[in-house]
Amino acid sequence: MDIDYYEILEVDRSASLEEIKKAYRKLALKYHPDRNPGDKEAEEKFKLINEAYQVLSDEEKRALYDRYGKAGLESHGFGGFENSSYEDIMDFFESIFGEAFGQNFGRRRQEEKYPLDLGLELTISFKDALFGAQKEIEYSYKVPCEACKGTGAKEGKLSVCPECQGRGQIYYRQGFMTFSQTCPRCGGSGEIATQKCVKCYGYGYETKHEKITIQIPEGVDSGNRIRVQGKGNISSSGKRGDLYITIYVEEDEHFIRHNDDIYLEVPIFFTKALLGESITIPTPRGEKELKLHTGTKDKEQFIFKGEGFKNLRTGKIGNLIAQIKLIFPTKLTQEQRNLLEKLQESFGVQSKPHEEKFSSLFEKVKNWFKK
Ligand SMILES: [Zn+2]
Ligand SMILES: [Zn+2]
Repeated sequence: MDIDYYEILEVDRSASLEEIKKAYRKLALKYHPDRNPGDKEAEEKFKLINEAYQVLSDEEKRALYDRYGKAGLESHGFGGFENSSYEDIMDFFESIFGEAFGQNFGRRRQEEKYPLDLGLELTISFKDALFGAQKEIEYSYKVPCEACKGTGAKEGKLSVCPECQGRGQIYYRQGFMTFSQTCPRCGGSGEIATQKCVKCYGYGYETKHEKITIQIPEGVDSGNRIRVQGKGNISSSGKRGDLYITIYVEEDEHFIRHNDDIYLEVPIFFTKALLGESITIPTPRGEKELKLHTGTKDKEQFIFKGEGFKNLRTGKIGNLIAQIKLIFPTKLTQEQRNLLEKLQESFGVQSKPHEEKFSSLFEKVKNWFKK
């Protein structure tokens, strides 16, 4: 059975974002694990509250949920809440509360020497973006230095930071107010290395290489990010971050992408356009017949439905748009000139639209200068 996000947050289906925020704040504080230590039920409830807020506070996700329920979110790639770990949820909660409500929840953050999430860029071909592909990538990530257990200190021996006496915060007074600040010397950990580890030069990590195979989805575009869970850097506590791969799609020599559509410029000699002949054009999925018609214009577009890119979110496939570029000769042989003159003659007055249009204008302008 589907859980109802509105019920979880105890708000109406018409609730405003402000009301949703308020309800979330109240319930998240009530069921926060710090306030309910060891209470499994509260923890589960806290998890659901965060999940509900993630969906209902986002206009797009909320609209999907309203129309199609949880299944709608999943089909658009917004699902996967079941897999979020306790850490993920706490991170989300802290990011929301930290920003929106300025609260500090005393959950002592593991001071990492490096960010756990890792980002890299991957360039793929136009074809791979269109059809999707499997790619093997080799990359490097950080693991805690074995010699110093990731501390960066010689033999892992850390001493109490003399700057903050191990508190991680330093306090100073200004008038009758006391301010606190993260200790700049130890970065808030309260500990410092008096002697650097010789193996990692005090950085606390080593670099490892790994080969992984990733699936590039059909329709991916430049700037899209693929998240590979659990393939980032590893912390001294053993926690591993995620790998984020930003895609860059190479341009094709002939096909031009615009959103989900593909544009192809088709050069056509003017006689062909006039005769309305058919030609064969290449499309990414094979050859297609393009039927010209008498009077085909320059820049005229012919649309081939479903021959474009697949939209990552909707699954709909865009179109191929063949745009005509009329080609006229710039030089004529005497024979061609004769033929064209003959052709022009055969059109009679139809070949002189300018004369008809301007006949009265010639007279009019003449009269302007008569005295
Ligand atoms: Zn080391
Ligand atoms: Zn310190």
